[in-house]
Amino acid sequence: MDIIVLSHEATEEDIRHIIKRLESWNLRINLSQGTERTIIGVIGDTSKVTEEEEDSIKAAPGVENVFRILKPYKLASREFRKETTEIDVRGVIIGGKKVPVMAGPCAVENMTVLASIADKVKAAGASFLRGGAYKPRTSPYSFQGLGEEGLKHLAQARDRTGLPIVTEIMDPRDLEVISEYADIIQIGARNMQNFRLLLEVGTSDKPVLLKRGLSSTIKEWLMSAEYIMSRGNQNVMLCERGIRTFETATRNTLDLSAVPVLKQLTHLPVVVDPSHGVGKRDLVAPMAKAAIAAGADALMIEVHTNPEEAMSDGDQSLKPEQFEKMMRELRPVAEAVGREL
Ligand code: PEP
Ligand code: MN
Repeated sequence: MDIIVLSHEATEEDIRHIIKRLESWNLRINLSQGTERTIIGVIGDTSKVTEEEEDSIKAAPGVENVFRILKPYKLASREFRKETTEIDVRGVIIGGKKVPVMAGPCAVENMTVLASIADKVKAAGASFLRGGAYKPRTSPYSFQGLGEEGLKHLAQARDRTGLPIVTEIMDPRDLEVISEYADIIQIGARNMQNFRLLLEVGTSDKPVLLKRGLSSTIKEWLMSAEYIMSRGNQNVMLCERGIRTFETATRNTLDLSAVPVLKQLTHLPVVVDPSHGVGKRDLVAPMAKAAIAAGADALMIEVHTNPEEAMSDGDQSLKPEQFEKMMRELRPVAEAVGREL
């Protein structure tokens, strides 16, 4: 028993009664009150609920139906919620008809460069500014990000352009400071299975962009989303950013088949990051087009005014004029599949 569908006639009292019984079995609940119907998602080890107990819930006043979900993730599953979740970030919707684009440098380097990138991506039609202040670098000797100073620069760029900001968290100890500035908190590929970090952002009220792990299956990825959601935060979006394969022509292999697969399995919005997926500037625009055609709800694109001198991921960063051209070319693609840019 994982989902309890309540009838239209269910009263507050009926709901309280069901919740009390579930809690007495050490289960927690997630109440989803939609316009059509109210659903109780049961969280915890439901395998221990006996058939008799399940029948008693089925027979309780106000209950229309009880379902078991065979998938290991529940809150993230399409069974739990039929409609794609729309996440509203300062008025920009992710998961709706419009496909917002999150653009900006890999890392926040300094205010001057960030301001100039922010102005340019905004002018080209981006809806979010991205930029890392805490960078997960392969080498401990590489630039690690500006930390809080970088967050302050991002907030200043937001004031200047109105673009909400997306930035990465690497350590649960930084949640408080990052929450002061960020509009969307990014969990990077390397931390997709950092379960303590997932649980921590699960307590936050900020939307979370969860990137796919370098070698993670779609199921593992959805389980990670479930970790976040199980703590209460339902505003999770999944970001495909390429996986490790034997192919060396590209930095990773952008798994665009994950997009329609996720559309079947989950109600969470799907973001595609072709920049990290391919690792090469020239390949970003074609894959961005393909991502929209495949059904992506948003894109994440790295842009830098001077990629040759970028402190990270210069090879895959578009120059502002390339970004502007890509945005122009994406519009008819979006329209062709019933979306808008
Ligand atoms: C990034 O967005 O700059 C980044 C580090 O991404 P990923 O975690 O996908 O490698
Ligand atoms: Mn990067």
